[in-house]
Amino acid sequence: MHTCTFNEAKRLVRELVEAKGFPNDESALTQKLLWAFVELGEAADAYKKGEDWSIICEELIDVIFYILDFIGLVEKTQGTEIDVDKLFLEKWRKNMNRPNQYGQRRDIKVREG
Ligand SMILES: [Mg+2]
Repeated sequence: MHTCTFNEAKRLVRELVEAKGFPNDESALTQKLLWAFVELGEAADAYKKGEDWSIICEELIDVIFYILDFIGLVEKTQGTEIDVDKLFLEKWRKNMNRPNQYGQRRDIKVREG
């Protein structure tokens, strides 16, 4: 099985966008983020309806596609380079160095009855 880094995935998404004629200029940035939310909603809906895990996960991959689409389009239109693998690892390290349950000040309790 071929493995794929975030950066490779970002390049593959760019290839797909160009091959399929999807919106690919600066004005499309907002809609890429919007579609990421829509795909996340599709994942939540699939979960709610008891769909197969493979279907739920495929919707989540759609979210990642749009996120990488957005980042790739930022690179293309803003003349900048974004190393997604590096960002992920930096963020992971940052979170690992935070205290237990950081950012969670209140317990979310399940109400009974
Ligand atoms: Mg979808």
